[in-house]
Amino acid sequence: MRVLFATSEAYPLVKTGGLADVSYALPAALRQQGIDVRLLLPGYPEVFKQLSLIEVHENISLFSNLEPVRVLAGFMPGNLYPVYVIDCPRLYAREGGPYQDAAGNEWPDNALRFAALSKVASLFASHQFIFKPDILHCNDWQTGLAPAYLAFSHSRTRAKVVISVHNLAYQGVFGPEVAEPFGIPRSDMFRVIKLLGLPDHCFNLEGVEYHGKMSFLKAGLHYADWISTVSPTYARDIQTASFGYGLQGLLSARCHQLTGILNGIDEKAWDPATDRYLVKNYTVDTLASKAENTKALRSKLGLEQTPFKPLLGMITRLTYQKGLDLLVPIIPDIIHEGAQLVLLGSGDKELENRLKQYAKLLPGQISVTLGYNEELSHQIIASADLFLMPSLFEPCGLTQMYSMRYGTIPLVRRTGGLADTVTDATPGQVAKKLATGFVFEEENASELLRCVQRALATFREKGSWRTLQLNGMTRDFSWFHSAKEYVGLYQQLLNK
Ligand code: ADP
Repeated sequence: MRVLFATSEAYPLVKTGGLADVSYALPAALRQQGIDVRLLLPGYPEVFKQLSLIEVHENISLFSNLEPVRVLAGFMPGNLYPVYVIDCPRLYAREGGPYQDAAGNEWPDNALRFAALSKVASLFASHQFIFKPDILHCNDWQTGLAPAYLAFSHSRTRAKVVISVHNLAYQGVFGPEVAEPFGIPRSDMFRVIKLLGLPDHCFNLEGVEYHGKMSFLKAGLHYADWISTVSPTYARDIQTASFGYGLQGLLSARCHQLTGILNGIDEKAWDPATDRYLVKNYTVDTLASKAENTKALRSKLGLEQTPFKPLLGMITRLTYQKGLDLLVPIIPDIIHEGAQLVLLGSGDKELENRLKQYAKLLPGQISVTLGYNEELSHQIIASADLFLMPSLFEPCGLTQMYSMRYGTIPLVRRTGGLADTVTDATPGQVAKKLATGFVFEEENASELLRCVQRALATFREKGSWRTLQLNGMTRDFSWFHSAKEYVGLYQQLLNK
């Protein structure tokens, strides 16, 4: 089976979030199951710096107002699998991030940049190039137009298309301004649709139209043969008004072609037995050594050395999604309960300031580090006793799975992938030796506090705590099972 995995980011070449990790690890896991999977990426400068590439297709016209592009090929570092790269300097050769400039502003021509990625993906999928995939696997809004292009292609053979939603909150909605990078003043949406190489009639409720604008993600969800998302619960959540961001109608209409498949984790990078960032490695059998990491972290961050106090950790983007509005008001209560808090994150400036103020107010008990810090993130995961994820919504979430692998007990809100990966320590689940963490339901601060109090009570019963740790540490979060499910899905589509 041949699969083209089209994505706008992939670790270690270019990463802004979880999509990059999936785009690296899932193809590798599919490869191990005998699938000929290849990646398609835009030719950002970081990609050219890290890969040796040769030209495989030249002079490919995508849109009437854009010079022809080239498709180059190379291999993922470590010779993992082939990678195709779109060479179009006008769209991709610029310093900054894949979606934003260095100051954090969206690139003004993002619609064109990712329409180009989608168009090339559709050319592969309509078998115009040497590599003729059976399946095109699209990811998020950046590849959302590919299923639409494919639906209107005149090719005699074509791949089946799956689109994976990694976070429905980002949809790629664009208005008349899309025309400007083509050198054409703001035009009506029909002109925009034409410029992007789509037929007029797809600018319709039953197509790419979204409240008078166009939505790349909606296009993908409408025209793909199948939709997947990154956890079974999130697959249900996004069919409701609370989590559907206006697309719940379309998603529930397609519920029979919508599957949730849990992400795996990179078990090599996140292994307490070999993690190079830890002061002391440990396993299920040497779990007592975990405390040495806690001690080292406390002294590194200036926290009081009080081994009997539980250390609560959190590593997060500081955004609305992550439930900080629930946590911030109860921080003094958590400290009053006799716990310490260590937080690493960056994002919303107001939240950053409030957290810093708490850290100043309660020195020795709270540590707040702002910014992105890979090393510290590993050390917190290894050192904390309890790991907090009170997210309002969470498509899958990774850090709760990392925590369990490190014997750090997650405390999560029952939503999306958190509901699917953490088993609450209810008496029944504890008795069955299935409990791995603490789960609360309602979106409010007092529910969160009650759950923290429940966790702290269990922390004081050393035997019960250890059982929770061992249950989590022995759970399998590898990509193997997810990859198997994707292969099953591809097979099912090809058999149709
Ligand atoms: P999301 O993709 O919504 O941010 P996930 O839990 O799926 O949430 O993945 C977040 C990833 O980013 C994890 O690997 C986490 O460790 C990492 N991360 C988030 N914030 C930071 C930070 N400030 N420093 C280091 N790593 C971080």
